[in-house]
Amino acid sequence: MKSHVQVCVIGGGVVGCSVLYHLTKLGWSDVLLLERSELTSGSTWHAAGGFHTLNGDTNMAALQGYTIKLYRELEALTGMSCGLHHVGGVTLADTPERMDMLKAERAKHRYMGLETEVLSPKEIQDIAPVTNVEGVLGGLYDPLDGHLDPAGTTHAYAKGARMNGAEIELHTLVTATNQRVDGSWEIVTDKGVVIAEHLVNAGGLWAREVGAMAGVYLPLHPMEHQYVVTDEIAEIYDRDTEHPHVMDPGGESYLRQEGRGLCIGFYEQACKPWAVDGTPWDFGHELLPDNLDKISDSIEFAYKRFPVLEKAGVKTVIHGPFTFAPDGNPLVGPVPGLRNYWSACGVMAGFSQGGGVGLTLAQWMIDGEPERDVFALDVARFGSWTTPGYTLPKVIENYQKRFSVSYPNEELPAARPFRTTPAYDIQKEMGAVFGQQFGLEVANYFATGEEPRYETPSFRRSNAFEATRREVKAVREAVGINEVQNFGKFLVRGNRARPWLDRIMAGRIPVPGRISLTPMLSPKGRLIGDLTVSCIAADEFQLTASYGYQAVHERWLRNNLDDGISLENISDQRTGFQIAGPRARDVLSAVTRDDVSPERFKFMDVKRMTVGMCDCIVQRVSYTGDLGYEIYSDAMSQRALWQTLWTEGQKHGMQPFGMRAMMSLRLDKFFGSWLSEFSPDYTPGETGMDRFIAFNKDADFIGRGAVEAERQTGASRGLVVFEVDALDADVVGYEPVWINDEVKGFCTSGGYSHYAEKSIALALVDATCLVDDLQAEIEILGHMRPAKRITRMLFDSDAHRMRG
Ligand SMILES: Cc1cc2nc3c(=O)[nH]c(=O)nc-3n(C[C@H](O)[C@H](O)[C@H](O)COP(=O)(O)OP(=O)(O)OC[C@H]3O[C@@H](n4cnc5c(N)ncnc54)[C@H](O)[C@@H]3O)c2cc1C
Repeated sequence: MKSHVQVCVIGGGVVGCSVLYHLTKLGWSDVLLLERSELTSGSTWHAAGGFHTLNGDTNMAALQGYTIKLYRELEALTGMSCGLHHVGGVTLADTPERMDMLKAERAKHRYMGLETEVLSPKEIQDIAPVTNVEGVLGGLYDPLDGHLDPAGTTHAYAKGARMNGAEIELHTLVTATNQRVDGSWEIVTDKGVVIAEHLVNAGGLWAREVGAMAGVYLPLHPMEHQYVVTDEIAEIYDRDTEHPHVMDPGGESYLRQEGRGLCIGFYEQACKPWAVDGTPWDFGHELLPDNLDKISDSIEFAYKRFPVLEKAGVKTVIHGPFTFAPDGNPLVGPVPGLRNYWSACGVMAGFSQGGGVGLTLAQWMIDGEPERDVFALDVARFGSWTTPGYTLPKVIENYQKRFSVSYPNEELPAARPFRTTPAYDIQKEMGAVFGQQFGLEVANYFATGEEPRYETPSFRRSNAFEATRREVKAVREAVGINEVQNFGKFLVRGNRARPWLDRIMAGRIPVPGRISLTPMLSPKGRLIGDLTVSCIAADEFQLTASYGYQAVHERWLRNNLDDGISLENISDQRTGFQIAGPRARDVLSAVTRDDVSPERFKFMDVKRMTVGMCDCIVQRVSYTGDLGYEIYSDAMSQRALWQTLWTEGQKHGMQPFGMRAMMSLRLDKFFGSWLSEFSPDYTPGETGMDRFIAFNKDADFIGRGAVEAERQTGASRGLVVFEVDALDADVVGYEPVWINDEVKGFCTSGGYSHYAEKSIALALVDATCLVDDLQAEIEILGHMRPAKRITRMLFDSDAHRMRG
């Protein structure tokens, strides 16, 4: 065994082998994989080997598409068979809601270049004749669906990696991982010690234990899972072609041909977590005892959907564990707080996602950033607040909902409420209907009177519509109050803070007492943040950005920190409220002795003030686009601050408002939002964020070369706003934009402007289409809806109110 390597991958399942293969493919050959037993000795060997591209998250779907297309390349390179069966597959819909979901998926696939097709029940019966289509409304066919040989595929990755210089040590158990002062890792095994510059945890079923060796808690948990292989079935072996896969979400099952019979697996409601207190080290190539009782309801349902099963004998039952993260997506990337420690864990669909996970991680390690927005799988989408007590109920929920319809406005209930601010009870008593961001309860809207305290999940306008309309009206006509707990906030201090910020941020860094908006760029010039920088004093700045993205931002800021700069994540310490609307100044001026007249406290000013009894940082900005103030206090005085603002606010018609209203209000001003309009998938030139770049500042900010080049060539697409002639469903995101019968772009977000009473969409379209009177059609839930570009903001287009 080598004693020093550039990268050591722990774990020889499909994921570890894919990481190893991709590292070598992208040029790093001094890489070693350690496996405690044989390759595939975790979940991998007993997988059903199915693969598919369908995924509600567009970037995850792209990653799955990459994985599936990779297998042929791997076979050609290694001469080994992955046992590929590209048989195609159909996902059934037995409710109108699921049909809506499949149509929305189909629409996204148009610009992703995926050739999926919506089928009628009759067409489903023709291609998948073992299906009883009674009660089925239709389905989505994907020609890329198929299955493979899990062991063959894992060995093909391993061979591909070895051909490029990688080494693999089998029967080598890692027992400890210790960080050295130079940032490299000492990896202790039962066969000796290896020093590696980088460590990759691909420990699969043992990823928790491997993480704990470095003091890392990875939020994942193994679940038991079962599939059944039948004896021969005449209706199957009499066919000339292989039967396609059939996913029946209503029955929580997936079915495919296996030899001359069928194989069917279930995501049952009566599911069971496995190895709650840790995965035993002696668990190896073995299965769990059959437990058909657990899936008896699902089997009952399957007999109705696939009647041939009822008379088929059972050949084998496969019952084994595999891991899930709380939201079912992998945990990939640099683990926050540690140097050179990379996660490739929580991959619940190794054969749909393993290739993409390997590619993403290899790009991240070698190029410094993956090629696309990977937030959906970034290990930093969970924070240090996660615990086994949180993860377990979330993982159970995820397993049970694996085949449920996911709605764009859905808030999942497990493990909630968890993290709350002091204002939580006050808001709850006022009828708040909460959502959850990064573990934190956030008011979505306030129900009144007899209105239910629950938002109906829907692809169409929900029962929150009326409440949202009321809240928007209160803001535009009087004054609204909303919590500002759900901003990520950082405090940057030190006398070198300004030059550091000038290097990290592409925009202008404000003078004391002022605020600026600035993009933060990756070295390749992609957007990795849209931040508000407030200069509180010459050597003290507050950065405000997305709450859910705070661990990603913190990881980036710390990795690029200069000596002598103090960076503190104060997201949960500094909380407070924003007040917005024409009466906002009347409220503030009555509760502070500071002069907040328009002449003394201008738009984009920031000032420390006493508000009521509370020491606050007050900023004159508001994402509502109205006259507004963000008033930050420490969490201990938040309730007192509420009493002050609310008591005074009653004289001015104050109403609480939530995130639904906020997202409607921002549409009036065409404001983009993080991870919708602005994300690492896009550049400043494409999204209009280039207007905030200080090209003339005397600082070599990160990404400068790339954005200067884009400025010369121009962006190939641009962000536009459409007024949509919508029915009862508004744009959510990723709907295709048709111009002259061709897909020329896609929506980034949208919704209903209650102020203007219009349905609005923001979209990225080809640069060739960027004319003021652009007419288009947007495909919403299978309907082509006419849309016309608008260029004048719907509210306060001269910014008189916002700046006045
Ligand atoms: C019944 C069942 C059916 C499934 N069907 C499908 C399917 O159809 N399609 C699909 O895509 N996925 C399926 N899966 C999921 C799939 O099996 C997993 O996504 C995949 O195997 C995860 O691979 P991995 O490499 O992350 O983990 P693992 O396969 O668990 O590999 C981890 C490896 O790390 C090694 N290791 C751990 N700790 C150490 C250490 N300290 N030192 C050295 N080595 C160590 C282990 O020995 C093991 O080999 C199924 C799972 C089950 C249980």
